[in-house]
Amino acid sequence: MTQPSTAGALHLPAEMESAIRSAIEPAQSILCVSHVSPDGDAIGSLLGMGWILRHLGKKPTLALADKPASDFNYIPGFDRIVGASGVADAYDLIICLDASSPDRMGAVYRPAVHSQIPLLVIDHHITNTNFGSLNWVEPGCAAVCQMLVYLADGLGAPLAGNLSVALLTGLITDTLGFRTSNTDAHVLQAAMRLTDGGAHIHEIVARTLQSRTYAGLRLWGSILNHAQLDKRVIWATISLAQRKQASAQDGDGEGLAGFLVSAKEADIGATFTERVNGGQTVVECSFRAKRGFDVSQVALALGGGGHPPAAGCTLTGPLDQVAAQVVAALQEAHQKQTAAQKLAQSQLSSVGNGAHG
Ligand code: AMP
Ligand code: MN
Ligand code: MN
Repeated sequence: MTQPSTAGALHLPAEMESAIRSAIEPAQSILCVSHVSPDGDAIGSLLGMGWILRHLGKKPTLALADKPASDFNYIPGFDRIVGASGVADAYDLIICLDASSPDRMGAVYRPAVHSQIPLLVIDHHITNTNFGSLNWVEPGCAAVCQMLVYLADGLGAPLAGNLSVALLTGLITDTLGFRTSNTDAHVLQAAMRLTDGGAHIHEIVARTLQSRTYAGLRLWGSILNHAQLDKRVIWATISLAQRKQASAQDGDGEGLAGFLVSAKEADIGATFTERVNGGQTVVECSFRAKRGFDVSQVALALGGGGHPPAAGCTLTGPLDQVAAQVVAALQEAHQKQTAAQKLAQSQLSSVGNGAHG
């Protein structure tokens, strides 16, 4: 009989469970952090980790370099998240969630004072650099919140109440409501257990994926108007001036790269968002790819990271110049990946011909 596809393939490995337990149990003071420009998985896994640690009798500090969007204030514990000013110099343990490299933690992690402290990294990015003293990296998981379902099981924290709301949030936002190509039976099984624990899919979807401001919609309108398409890459720039004109906020361009790549004529979508970061103008690049294409390696080569279908990087330079250079890199990657696909197909069909001929 064939095994069900959920059979034991994904879980917290026994050695990792005991290593994590040994790191957490003796720690009196624990700092948990996630990435800059926090998304639903960053906020959900941070708060979820907080609830798991509280179940173990700990009182963790939860910190994010950038203020999380108030859309997520329905997750219990949201108001207790602190910024960089709430982070002390000394902790027994730091736990970093959903970040592929140390710079992604931003100002809440100060290498000068924090680099001597044991660092537990829990992440699902294929581009993770294993920068912790203990690294649990599982690219097979669709969200860090999915990994925390297995961690909660391992550490005996019940998947109920506050914890289930936090973890279902990251699962829903990172899979765009269970629609991404990595949404498999394990994801659905984890989601089922979280809904069983009291979290509601429709409420979380309504608060996150289906919630936009009027200014944000107007911004999307003006950006879509000047989107460009060439060699199956579709892209748009979002300037500071455009955001100001639409009275749009920082997060209002989010999701646009994913919307752009829904164009039938494209395989890769990208947005380039101009931002002022600590007095410096930077361009946040966000990439999305259709199934069969991989944007993570372009992002990694440009100093960023991510997953094959969704990745990004942050670059300095004038908006149009950055966009032109990066689009050329994406088009080149697309061309190479198409050629590799064609080669694989022709090899497959010649094997097929041989077998039947
Ligand atoms: P986004 O387009 O911002 O939703 O990000 C898509 C994916 O790429 C996420 O998994 C991010 O963690 C990753 N990513 C985005 N920007 C960066 C960056 N500057 N450095 C590393 N990873 C990034
Ligand atoms: Mn994230
Ligand atoms: Mn994530």
